[in-house]
Amino acid sequence: MQPTSEILHHKLKDFFGFDSFKGEQEAIIRHLIEGNSAFVLMPTGGGKSLCYQLPALLMEGTAIVISPLIALMKNQVDAIRGFVDNKEGIAHFLNSSLNKTQIQEVRDHLLSGVTKLLYVAPESLTKEENIQLLQKIKISFYAVDEAHCISEWGHDFRPEYRKIHPIVNEIGKAPIIALTATATPKVQQDIQKNLGMLEAKVFKSSFNRENLYYEVRPKVNTEREIIKFIKNNQGKSGIIYCLSRKKVEELAELLNVNGIKALPYHAGLDASTRAQNQDKFLMEEVDVIVATIAFGMGIDKPDVRFVIHYNMPKSLEGYYQETGRAGRDGGEGQCIAFYSYKDIQKLEKFMQSKPLAEQEIGKQLINDTVAYAESNVCRRKSLLNYFGESYTAEKCGNCDNCLYPKKQFEGKEFLYTVIELINSMKENFKADHLANILGGVTNSIIKSYNHHKLEFFGINPNKDARFWLAVIRQGLVLQFLNKDVEKYGLVSVTEKGMEFFEKPYSVPMAEDREFVDTEDDDAVSTVGTTKHHGGGGGDDTLLSMLKDIRHSLSKRLKLPPFVIFSDPSLEDMSIMYPITLDELKNCQGVGEGKAKKFGKEFIQLIAKYVEENEIIRPTEFVVKSVANKSLNKVYIIKSIDRRLPLDEIADAKNMELDQLYDELEAIVGSGTRINIDYYIRQVIDEDKVDDIYDYFKEEATSDSVNEALKALGPDYTEEEVRLIRIKFMSELGN
Ligand code: ADP
Ligand code: MG
Repeated sequence: MQPTSEILHHKLKDFFGFDSFKGEQEAIIRHLIEGNSAFVLMPTGGGKSLCYQLPALLMEGTAIVISPLIALMKNQVDAIRGFVDNKEGIAHFLNSSLNKTQIQEVRDHLLSGVTKLLYVAPESLTKEENIQLLQKIKISFYAVDEAHCISEWGHDFRPEYRKIHPIVNEIGKAPIIALTATATPKVQQDIQKNLGMLEAKVFKSSFNRENLYYEVRPKVNTEREIIKFIKNNQGKSGIIYCLSRKKVEELAELLNVNGIKALPYHAGLDASTRAQNQDKFLMEEVDVIVATIAFGMGIDKPDVRFVIHYNMPKSLEGYYQETGRAGRDGGEGQCIAFYSYKDIQKLEKFMQSKPLAEQEIGKQLINDTVAYAESNVCRRKSLLNYFGESYTAEKCGNCDNCLYPKKQFEGKEFLYTVIELINSMKENFKADHLANILGGVTNSIIKSYNHHKLEFFGINPNKDARFWLAVIRQGLVLQFLNKDVEKYGLVSVTEKGMEFFEKPYSVPMAEDREFVDTEDDDAVSTVGTTKHHGGGGGDDTLLSMLKDIRHSLSKRLKLPPFVIFSDPSLEDMSIMYPITLDELKNCQGVGEGKAKKFGKEFIQLIAKYVEENEIIRPTEFVVKSVANKSLNKVYIIKSIDRRLPLDEIADAKNMELDQLYDELEAIVGSGTRINIDYYIRQVIDEDKVDDIYDYFKEEATSDSVNEALKALGPDYTEEEVRLIRIKFMSELGN
């Protein structure tokens, strides 16, 4: 049967109500109807379902649709029945949720030949009685949806998917259409091999999502950054992905405390809560859903405006899929990921319980994610390249690396060295290994190949393995080098690379972004004076004006500037534009006491500034910590009033002494006065107390403990300095 384009369009309108096909839908449908197998790679939202639904309705027999998403089957089936005048028998699903009567109904309809589409979960397909049933009917074709589940190299491997091919052979041969939204070349090959369809025509749409903005940020003050981001994007829908259920719960709570309507979603919640939370998000009763990756499969909300990754996911496939849920309507979609190497180590730890082969694969996928996060190459280019698509434009202009580029350097000589090394070796090696040779890293693998004796070993004393890895990575992205798809990860030289090698030319490369490893900032910082949040994001003009008044006030009052307001406090003011004392109190590190004592001139200045510049102020922006944290504070303040030794207070609250000092700093930093003299008298020599106190009063230019230790010399401990600083800040500042 070869329907004309006119007929196909007519049926499209008839059944689905659409006027035209999207992308390659028509070609795919035609190909299938002509009795051929097809492999379809199309991004999420591209319209894959239609590629098998329409042919199923037009062709003789029943199409078998294999999909892992039991929860979505019913929706799909209902939708089709709706399209086709509610003819119930036309589409069915077969999975573990059906009772006996329902199964009997499906059998009857199948055998009578009215059913055009049968959705089956892979585990139901393996059941003997179902195989026997399907052997009795005519099959038009098999559709394998979410086909990446077949490959161990995919991000969502499901062992049952491996059985599809033998079972299909048992039931009866028919064309196969495999569909997925994420597949690296390696995964694609796996799928085709496994389904016995290496010869099938491949329909690959571009994976470029032009409207998505990609950014990777270092993981510093993450909660704060997230709240700030959401406050700057009020009223927009967004998803935040976290790795653990615990973090999901915590973050959702924190957002609510800060006036953001958010709900959690993870597999640990009961089904009805999950469904409810999802509905509230879809119905826009809440703006933000905080979720593990359990959320999102099949969610079809077109106007999700941002997707935030609190942790870097464990594969780029996952990242692409999850970010893909932003901006499906073609409108704005901001994708922000927070990256720290610590998180990566956590991911690696999770894997240690898995079988060795799986660990190897997992590690490789994680490495690719790290490379992406740390890279300075255009994000879009890196992503598309990863999925085997070449993106020829130099820059996309819609990612952090394009908009805020890092320094460039001439890569000619270095790339030449890499290619020279690869050419000089008899076999191919992975990127890490090559980088280790060039960077002069001796490890057991290097030794086992005797590669520490090569002339290339540590070839440039000023360049480490990390640098060489960046060169290799960019060589890959720029296609001078190639990673072998079959033997995953082995690097070889491409034709372009050989041409370059014969006649080298200029290759600008980007220096790798430095991701300083930061402390876990799982705790919410009700930040005292010790931590400074980077990033800023405030009004620089206002900030420098605020610093000016702080300076003159400090002269007038003969107090060090940091005693008046810390830098983070001023930065916060430049973001929040407080114009009353109450609002000022909401700024980081500003409590009642400080607001009253020093605040007046600051809010007057801000009020004037806001008016003159017609600034629209963000409404209530402040990071409030969750309740039990402030309960701790109350307990601590009360205990100090009762003159309990600090170590006892720490014990009672299950804290280290260090952590208690953090709390005390936060307390005095925000303007509450506490008197710890009783404790200081017990633990620090009186002369030392005076020395440290005088240092802060007369000499210090900042509140830094390290600077103090340097200036005071080796006789003073960090603990002593911190305690006296707390006393000092409390007495002078509050
Ligand atoms: P995928 O499975 O590729 O993520 P879906 O099959 O779920 O995508 O389709 C995504 C959306 O696009 C659905 O809402 C679907 O109704 C719609 N759609 C599919 N084909 C067309 C078309 N030809 N014209 C308009 N909308 C379409
Ligand atoms: Mg789909």
